[in-house]
Amino acid sequence: MSDAAFDVVVVGSCMTDLVSQTPRLPKAGETIHGHKFFIGFGGKGANQCIQAARLGVKTAMICKVGKDFFGDNYIQNFKDNDVNTDFVWQTSDAATGAASITVNDAGENAIVIVAGANMLLGEEELQKALPAIRKAKVLVCQLEISSRTSCQALQMAHDNKVKTIFNPAPAVQDLDHSFYRVSDVFCCNESEAELLTGCTVNNVEDAHHAAEELLRRGCAAVIITLGPQGCVVLKAQDKTSTHVPSTAVKAVDTTGAGDSFIGALAFCMAHHPAMPLEEMARRANQVAALSVQTVGTQTSFPFKRDLPAEMF
Ligand code: ATP
Repeated sequence: MSDAAFDVVVVGSCMTDLVSQTPRLPKAGETIHGHKFFIGFGGKGANQCIQAARLGVKTAMICKVGKDFFGDNYIQNFKDNDVNTDFVWQTSDAATGAASITVNDAGENAIVIVAGANMLLGEEELQKALPAIRKAKVLVCQLEISSRTSCQALQMAHDNKVKTIFNPAPAVQDLDHSFYRVSDVFCCNESEAELLTGCTVNNVEDAHHAAEELLRRGCAAVIITLGPQGCVVLKAQDKTSTHVPSTAVKAVDTTGAGDSFIGALAFCMAHHPAMPLEEMARRANQVAALSVQTVGTQTSFPFKRDLPAEMF
């Protein structure tokens, strides 16, 4: 095990996407021919970690995959992206997380996700990774693993004065309030903000109100992403939230845009810790806007070389 210090540590999920493109979605009991199949790397945790790594910070992933072909393949994918894998465990008790995705010619999809090994990451592994968590500059968590494990990881980071980003995705209506208290930045999209607050979030004005409600629950700052409209940022020390617009671009595939945004935000928090959060959000908008202009999830995430030098 490494005793190196990492800038960004992500505790989260890995999923292998098995994607079939078909003329239409099959009915129950039916077998149809598709015209294309491909395997992609996904999972919110891994996506966010890989985006941060591509911008040039030292990253480590804390996660669990199966002792199977997909698990071996995913570990190689982390290595190919310069993500440290000392805390990637393999288990024989469940398969690597997988998403079977069928997309028809109209762009509609049917998806089955089996979280598998992701749900077996627990306190024992967090304890083994504690030295890396303690020394990290930023720790990032989401909700695609056991929520207890996510909350424990955030708490460990918070107790050790490590900055935390919590992405409550996929959102649950009755999120445990301890998550707010251990989040330096609570970052979600419009639909997650809506589910968590019970308020409609359709525009910038709505997002300001939802951010105020989320902040009241105890986090130090809230960011709500708004697709082509960028995001809204609200810090505990400020009375009003700020709209940070994005330069709207023609999106070809927005899958993973939110993960690209969070990976870039983690990069900024680690690399420019004194920078105002609004400026970090502006830069994260810039990175995510690039990601929506290319097809795929991790395949669309930009590298340092794709971005202006002044960002670094
Ligand atoms: P997804 O679920 O598709 O991964 P999301 O719903 O979590 O994404 P969004 O709020 O849609 O997240 O997008 C995240 C960020 O991506 C936005 O805050 C913005 O910076 C950028 N973005 C998304 N769509 C566009 C676009 N059309 N033009 C410019 N930037 C965009």
